[in-house]
Amino acid sequence: MKEDIKIQYECVDCLNYFRLSSPIKFCAECKSENIRVVDKADYNDFIIEDLNLTELQVLNIVSVWYINGMIPDILQNSNGCELDEIVDDLFFNKLEEEKLIRSIKL
Ligand SMILES: [Zn+2]
Repeated sequence: MKEDIKIQYECVDCLNYFRLSSPIKFCAECKSENIRVVDKADYNDFIIEDLNLTELQVLNIVSVWYINGMIPDILQNSNGCELDEIVDDLFFNKLEEEKLIRSIKL
């Protein structure tokens, strides 16, 4: 059944999240049989996939969260760039790339 693929499991021992279409017997990471079904309302590690979001949409969401203070201003990469700078760079690079691809197709 198609809905079964959407069921998310958590390994109680190694905290690995995973999905399998076949009947679950053990964790794919540590082979533990101590696994449980995760309620989607609690946590969804596959939300990008489930909502079918594009990379631009994800970058835009993260940017809006950061600007609105939903993510603390403490996230930086090793070059000292803050998350909003990183996301903005990625967003505009990707946007330019898509514009270029569209201009070639026309
Ligand atoms: Zn495990």
